[in-house]
Amino acid sequence: MALYAEIAFNLATGRCFDYEVPAAMEGKIHLGCRVRALFNGRELSGYVLKLKDFSVYKGKANPILEIEDASRQFPPQLLKLADWIVSYYCASHECVIWNLLPAVVRKGEMQHKETTYIDLSPAAKDQGSDAFKALTPKRQQVLKTLVKLGGCLPAKETLGAVDASQGVIDALVRDGWLIKSRRVEERDPFSNVIVHRDEPKELSKEQSSALAAIVEEIDAPKPKPILLHGCTGSGKTEVYLHSISYCLEKGRDAIVLVPEIALTPQTTLRFRQRFGDMVSVLHSGLTEGQRFDEWTRIAAGRSRIAVGARSALFAPFHHLGLIVVDEEHETTYKQDEAPHYNARDVAVVRGFLEPCAVVLGSATPALESYYNCSIGKYRLVEMPSRIDSKPMPKVEVVDMHVERALLKGDEKASFFSKRLKYLIDDRLGKHQQVILFLNRRGYATTLTCSECGYTASCDNCSVTYTYHRKADKLVCHHCNTMLDAPKECPDCGNPNIRYGGYGTERIEAVTRKMFPNAMVARMDSDTMSNSESYRQVLGAFREHHIDILIGTQMIAKGLDFPDVTLVGIIQADIGLNMPDFRSAERTFSLITQVAGRAGRGSEAGIVVVQTCTPENYALVSAQRHDFKGFYDQETPVRKNLCFPPFTHLVMVLFRGEDEGETAQCAENFAQAVAKGLAKDVQVMGPMPAPMAKLAGKFRYQLLLRAVNVRGITNACRAAMAQLSPKDLRKVRVDIDVDARFLM
Ligand code: ADP
Ligand code: ZN
Repeated sequence: MALYAEIAFNLATGRCFDYEVPAAMEGKIHLGCRVRALFNGRELSGYVLKLKDFSVYKGKANPILEIEDASRQFPPQLLKLADWIVSYYCASHECVIWNLLPAVVRKGEMQHKETTYIDLSPAAKDQGSDAFKALTPKRQQVLKTLVKLGGCLPAKETLGAVDASQGVIDALVRDGWLIKSRRVEERDPFSNVIVHRDEPKELSKEQSSALAAIVEEIDAPKPKPILLHGCTGSGKTEVYLHSISYCLEKGRDAIVLVPEIALTPQTTLRFRQRFGDMVSVLHSGLTEGQRFDEWTRIAAGRSRIAVGARSALFAPFHHLGLIVVDEEHETTYKQDEAPHYNARDVAVVRGFLEPCAVVLGSATPALESYYNCSIGKYRLVEMPSRIDSKPMPKVEVVDMHVERALLKGDEKASFFSKRLKYLIDDRLGKHQQVILFLNRRGYATTLTCSECGYTASCDNCSVTYTYHRKADKLVCHHCNTMLDAPKECPDCGNPNIRYGGYGTERIEAVTRKMFPNAMVARMDSDTMSNSESYRQVLGAFREHHIDILIGTQMIAKGLDFPDVTLVGIIQADIGLNMPDFRSAERTFSLITQVAGRAGRGSEAGIVVVQTCTPENYALVSAQRHDFKGFYDQETPVRKNLCFPPFTHLVMVLFRGEDEGETAQCAENFAQAVAKGLAKDVQVMGPMPAPMAKLAGKFRYQLLLRAVNVRGITNACRAAMAQLSPKDLRKVRVDIDVDARFLM
């Protein structure tokens, strides 16, 4: 008999509170229950996270007032997972609980969409009866019409279907001839998309053995996570689809995580095409009503597969058989606010708790995942060749230093090497398609005065403004501050302002000029205001209304266009100069992914990589499609420097409006944490973050690393508790376990 319950409210207290379970509620209250109780004189809703016989607040604890609607409970099967996230990521229970449950379910304001129907009563169907004949001719006519129409209509349509007034219908309802009823309707996110069913493809040899390995793990009592390392175009998605079919046959459900729904519409659609309305698609573009319906459909077992971004991992299935994490290396799986969980890693934990199989798929696995295979934690399954033995695209690297020396006058400003220009002309002549990739948007990256050396930079952030020509504005890409572009130097009045550097907007302008007969489109977050515009451009590209598609990393992922035979990577070394130990890994992965868009059809593809550092090993390995080669060069570097995957890295970030206070808070934290750290923990800082100021806030960071992450996180928790309320009022302290970005 539990006498007390620990309840988490949605308050920023970071802890749970003890309440008494009234005798009348005993046996009705269970873990995950949503209840109402008094907190500081206010009635609040909260979740029961623990039941116990004893409380230190014995005799003083307030009673629970009420158990709320069963449809809004926290799924009990996810409580253990929530506990793990709390403990591993140094997060509070309340924050995790509130993150795992969609806001619309939590708030409980949303109801199922119900529609009123009008049905005929049994008496109305017997049209020969005396009572029927006694009705007025008008009423008889209405009932006869309704019988002809099948008897049951939505109330809204009834009036239009019969030639009578609302008054006549109301009277028939009142007298019992017609019956009103309410029915639940599901809001289908796919209602405006035509989905063609497709049939399972016969698997290649490599695909079959990958499937066999996955099936083995699905059936295993203690499944081991699988890393599916398959090159671009090896047919990983088809393997996922077959694995899910197997799961369904066994009466079990599946979750598929994709990095970003809007950027992977093709992948998402393929699940719907194969499994129809057994698939729930969860993404940020859903209306609240759709999200509510999808979530309840899953909880009630009416949907068997959930496809979605990060949070779909918490779909409340009861018989999970498989979790797929597609493009597992993607950074979007890491949530950049608290709790800072990585859905890829939490998927592995959910797999362990359920237990169920977990498949992490990628052409460029995260170093951590590949390392986990080498130490036997994960099982490695490889698919090294493309479907139908299509060749990998040929990658040519052009040294832009040499190239610039060769180019003359106007050509220098074109940003295109001779080779790339020649190949674009060639492809246009053959009516084939081209993708040009540059991971930077805008027109120019700097605006400087040729006289006094003034450089336009954001007051709120420690970065320069980017010039956007169409809008004629200076934009800060970090805080989105926008200014009218100056016509003269704001410092000295000199009218000769120089625009340096380039982004996609400038490449688009140059491309249009250089290839005046080509149809050109640009895809970056400036031109794509919503997922609809994204769909439109991709549709136009598929229909060959676009010859050259220019874009940022938006076009790097998952696109499968068979007539793209040339990919140009304009400045491949952009990411290499970042002060971040993962810059080589990110560059390798991005180049490989973009290159993988070429030559997916019957024609072989060519990739031209323009760079000023052709000898860099990330680029050389990408050129050879050699993940293993990259891994073998990168891991010794990481090992020497004690970076992941050989250690866990925790970043504590301090943000405040006053630089002195921020630095002081970081110092206080560092001193407090030092007392509790395990012996092997290495401490770097506190120091100003590489991005020292952002959106008006000064930023300091403390980096902690160790082989065992608990030796860090326990001390961090204790240090947090020791910070004075004054520190915490002025400075935000954020603990990021397994941080992905150290900027
Ligand atoms: P990946 O995700 O590994 O890059 P995809 O799953 O997109 O690869 O597959 C590449 C292409 O090959 C797709 O057009 C897909 O429809 C096709 N494909 C996959 N498996 C098969 C198969 N067994 N037989 C024929 N075509 C296949
Ligand atoms: Zn800014």
